[in-house]
Amino acid sequence: MFCTQCGTQLGEAEPNFCPSCGAQLRSPGSGPSFSTNARRLTRSRRDRKIAGVCGGIAEYLDVDPTLIRLVAVLALFCGAGFLAYIVAWIVLPEEELQPMPSPATI
Ligand SMILES: [Zn+2]
Repeated sequence: MFCTQCGTQLGEAEPNFCPSCGAQLRSPGSGPSFSTNARRLTRSRRDRKIAGVCGGIAEYLDVDPTLIRLVAVLALFCGAGFLAYIVAWIVLPEEELQPMPSPATI
């Protein structure tokens, strides 16, 4: 796979955005990807303990939410974590409500 903007070879990772020029590589509605929305950092509605910040970050990074919470709790002990969480709470938009995807569309 190559970037359509700058021609950088992207390998098999197929990121949503070109790491070289930042061009969006997957436009909504095109390609076989089941995820049509450009990935946005939002507070998760499905996976939340307090405000969904950790769940949202985990969804964004595609990692285990528990891992993010672990880091968040560790950061809390450093002092800056709590403030960072509050800032993220304020800054991050809440995930849009989405109807459950229908299996018939696959
Ligand atoms: Zn590019």
